[in-house]
Amino acid sequence: MSANLAAGAGRPRPGNTAWSIYRRLLRYARPYIGVFLIGVLGMILFAATNSALAYLVKEFLNGAFVKKNPEVLWQVPIAVVVLFTLRGIGDYVANFYPSWVGRQVVKGLRRDVFSHYLRLPTPYLDRQQSGHLLSKLTNNIELVAAAATSAAISLIGDSLTIIGLLITLFYMNWRLAVYCIAVAPVIAWLMQIANRSFRRYSERIQNSMGDITRVAKEAIDAHRLIKIFNAEDHQIERFERVNELNRASNMKLARAKSISNPVVQCIASIALASVLYVAIRQVFSHNMQVDEFLGFLTALMLIPSPLRSLVNMSGPLQQGIAAGQSVFEIIDEPTEGSGGTRTLVRARGEVEFRNVSFTYGGDKGDVLHDVSFRVRPGETVAIVGRSGSGKTTLVGLVPRFYDVQQGSVLLDGVDVREYRLTDLRSQVSLVSQDVVLFNDTIRNNIAFNAIDKTDAQITEAARAANVMEFVAQQPNGFDTVLSDRGQNLSGGQRQRISIARALLKDAPVLMLDEATAALDNESERRVQQELALLMRGRTTLVIAHRLSTVEGADRIIVLDHGRIAEIGNHQELLARGGLYAALHGMQFSD
Ligand code: ADP
Ligand code: MG
Repeated sequence: MSANLAAGAGRPRPGNTAWSIYRRLLRYARPYIGVFLIGVLGMILFAATNSALAYLVKEFLNGAFVKKNPEVLWQVPIAVVVLFTLRGIGDYVANFYPSWVGRQVVKGLRRDVFSHYLRLPTPYLDRQQSGHLLSKLTNNIELVAAAATSAAISLIGDSLTIIGLLITLFYMNWRLAVYCIAVAPVIAWLMQIANRSFRRYSERIQNSMGDITRVAKEAIDAHRLIKIFNAEDHQIERFERVNELNRASNMKLARAKSISNPVVQCIASIALASVLYVAIRQVFSHNMQVDEFLGFLTALMLIPSPLRSLVNMSGPLQQGIAAGQSVFEIIDEPTEGSGGTRTLVRARGEVEFRNVSFTYGGDKGDVLHDVSFRVRPGETVAIVGRSGSGKTTLVGLVPRFYDVQQGSVLLDGVDVREYRLTDLRSQVSLVSQDVVLFNDTIRNNIAFNAIDKTDAQITEAARAANVMEFVAQQPNGFDTVLSDRGQNLSGGQRQRISIARALLKDAPVLMLDEATAALDNESERRVQQELALLMRGRTTLVIAHRLSTVEGADRIIVLDHGRIAEIGNHQELLARGGLYAALHGMQFSD
């Protein structure tokens, strides 16, 4: 069996064979080996009762027909009840304990995959479809569970049963048993064929399940857009395509599954026929008694059922291994790491870009090109430029969402790559256009991971950001749970929550990325006051789309296609009559 598993990996990659994947899964089960062994005891008990059943038939026939022993009258019925009680206990133990282990494996894998997602580098996450990542966490791990439990139960339990029965056969009549064994290679060969087809299909099914999740998630997230464009039918069509793909590949799996049983049974019937032929000849030559014949036949007839479940097990096992492979691919993906070794409690807040060039890779070319500037602690520097000029990219380099390819970004005169990543990131607050809120209370959304803050500090931040004002209208006040990312709040209210969050974090470096772009004039003016409060005493990089909001900055950096076109204050840049003046002019004519 194991040789067969090792051979079946779809894409041959060293160290990634089916067997090595299964071994990795077993590593998750190792802490629970004791519990699993209890299950194995159950399997042994179950297997033993099968062999005992064949013996019971033999003894019954011997006692009732050959010896005509009257005690058989009460012995056999009692033996039947005892036997089936033991069999039931064995069955229960053999299923329950390995399933318990399986759920622990699922939980452990889920924890590892989820925590790995959080530590993956931003560029990697940019490339992934969140639907696929989600379905790895849900479907794929569930399939892994099936492999780790039902397959293991079957692999061990059914094999034990079959081995027990084979021993019984040999014990009863070794000559006949040898005939039976001759059929085994044929069945083994069939199992291999089934194995191979399963593995191919199950990989495809997982991918198409990811597509279903992705399309559905996109549609649910975009419900407003879909409604306003009357795009329901278009979305249904889109969904129908992936839905059909999923159905078709599932059908292929079902076909392979449905075919494997009848085929095995036909082969088994031919095997049985040939065994019967030999057995009946032995009866005629008086080499075999009726009790022996029927006892042997009973043991033989008990074999197909566990054999069938062994064959059927290859489906979940192969699916689980394909799923396990995609799960381990994620776990093997390198994480961001912990950055440098330099510690930093609180930065002064000097930010410097020194000849920074950056590209997202691919054939896109440089997004930032030879950018150099320095922001003194507490200074406010505005970054303006057309959409796509690289403003968001630029601010993302400070907390190391991405790393520069050339030059360096420095905080307090030290390359950001030298700091411990957690230390670096705790120096930076980011307030952007899309406010991310969690399905949690307003209080917890503000105190997001601020475990060292007191309730009074949280309330103070909320008050300063004027969150309290609208909190009063909420049903449960500060403890109102925000539904679906705060869709029941206005844009300005959501932004004030994120400002409160930044106030509470109290980081020395603040970055505002079009923080007010999504707001109407009225809310923008109000949020502007709260932003001014937030900026006080911090080094601030402010990206703003409405130039009126950057006029007060100490300096303005004008980006054009990833290069610094001009630097100066509002008056200087206007006087220069360059790009800034042009952008400013465009806004006035709006
Ligand atoms: P801005 O904020 O000034 O509008 P961005 O920094 O968002 O500009 O984008 C600059 C360029 O980088 C654009 O051409 C954009 O298409 C590209 N870009 C932005 N984010 C990514 C990303 N995650 N992966 C690849 N390309 C990106
Ligand atoms: Mg941007």
